[in-house]
Amino acid sequence: MEKIVLYNTLTRRKETFEPINPEHVGMYVCGPTVYGDPHLGHARPAVTFDLMFRYLQSLGYKVRYVRNITDVGHLEQDADDGEDKIAKKARLEQLEPMEIAHYYTERYHDAMRELGVKSPSIEPHASGHIIEQIAMVQRILDAGYAYESNGSIYFDVEKYNKDYHYGRLSGRNLDDIVTNTRELDGQSDKHHSFDFALWKKAAPEHIMRWPSPWSDGFPGWHMECSAMSTKYLGEQFDIHGGGMDLMFPHHECEIAQSTAALGKDSARYWVHNNMITINGQKMGKSLGNFITLEQLFTGNHPILEQAYTPMTIRFFVLQAHYRSTLDFSNEALQAAEKGLDRLMKGIETLGKLKPADKSTSDVADLERRCKEAMADDLNSPMVISALFDWVRIINQAAEGQQSFTAGDLETLKSVINRYVFDILGLRNEKAADAGGKDMVSPLVDMLLNMRMEAKANKDWATSDKIRDNLTAIGIRVKDRKDGFDWEIE
Ligand code: ZN
Repeated sequence: MEKIVLYNTLTRRKETFEPINPEHVGMYVCGPTVYGDPHLGHARPAVTFDLMFRYLQSLGYKVRYVRNITDVGHLEQDADDGEDKIAKKARLEQLEPMEIAHYYTERYHDAMRELGVKSPSIEPHASGHIIEQIAMVQRILDAGYAYESNGSIYFDVEKYNKDYHYGRLSGRNLDDIVTNTRELDGQSDKHHSFDFALWKKAAPEHIMRWPSPWSDGFPGWHMECSAMSTKYLGEQFDIHGGGMDLMFPHHECEIAQSTAALGKDSARYWVHNNMITINGQKMGKSLGNFITLEQLFTGNHPILEQAYTPMTIRFFVLQAHYRSTLDFSNEALQAAEKGLDRLMKGIETLGKLKPADKSTSDVADLERRCKEAMADDLNSPMVISALFDWVRIINQAAEGQQSFTAGDLETLKSVINRYVFDILGLRNEKAADAGGKDMVSPLVDMLLNMRMEAKANKDWATSDKIRDNLTAIGIRVKDRKDGFDWEIE
């Protein structure tokens, strides 16, 4: 298998990727908590790990990609006390919590499909794995790294930290964590404020509850990922991914849970995507800059100057390296829209090039650059920049300034198909929207031939009328010396 490097958040350096099994890759990514519409913040991890999934598959790996659905246990403020996010939404909307979870899971799937994000291999729900979570809590208790208090089970961070290092993923020490956590108010069942819940006894009004050896209750938020990754990928697996915002406490707690239960780290490579900011600010409901994916696709939000297509969003995400920050603005998205259009037009132009006796540029350059870029920690912006260089060369070829043999044209097409469509996962929305420019073409050509005749007869009124009517339905006409050209806007 081809040698690739990945940046491992755990060791803070790039490492050569060596899966446990040379042909299979196990990959776990923390998915959404399904209590609201999918938003811009969901797009980045989804596209990043879709890129990784597609890329590893393209290298020939059999990838088992597990992305969970959190439908229980994620409390307000990501804390141990407070209302369950899904139960709260259910209360406000007077629905069953599972109606909320189902509805928003479907919304998430729809948005992901639009963004060209492939469905993972397995998509387990936390509520469907209560038994596995209870079993893992029991293992942690048996290993001595948790304690029971009033029907709830808490992870004993101090005890764990004596044997292992709590905080090593996020680069924290327990001392820093102690000084940064507020003191317990005396109401809590925890021994220390930094301990976290593995199982919570449900208050009488709490609807989502299951029986356990300790109480009727529900699992702590971090528990599901440790339990489900172990169930589907084994005690040790290759890649664990998620957004940087999950690094602490969620992933730190997952590492502690898995290590306490299994006696070893479960994931070998921890991969984190950076966040999306909006005009330099964090996205947040209180800041008025919270944008759902549907609002982006329709343009229906006060800060949006226009609608942006799903592929524009995907291209915008891929234009930055996944570990860099990515700032959303109308200008940046408009630039992405133009760039994507240029790329797709270049690909259409390539399809029309006629072969020549010799090639004037070395087509192997494109594949070499794309391959090197992807192998270097999924450097999608470098892939895109190589593609743009070649779009320029293709456009020169259309103008007769470059030429390619039939074999080289085929190579170019296959490299571009592989990187643009299979690996970057883009699609030509305009071609798809035109839904058969093929059927439309003869009609438009006929009208434009009638327009040529009108012009020849100096019937300017008819000529203009044909052009204006075509423009009105989104067909842009360009006059050429020897005829016309047109495109669907
Ligand atoms: Zn998780």
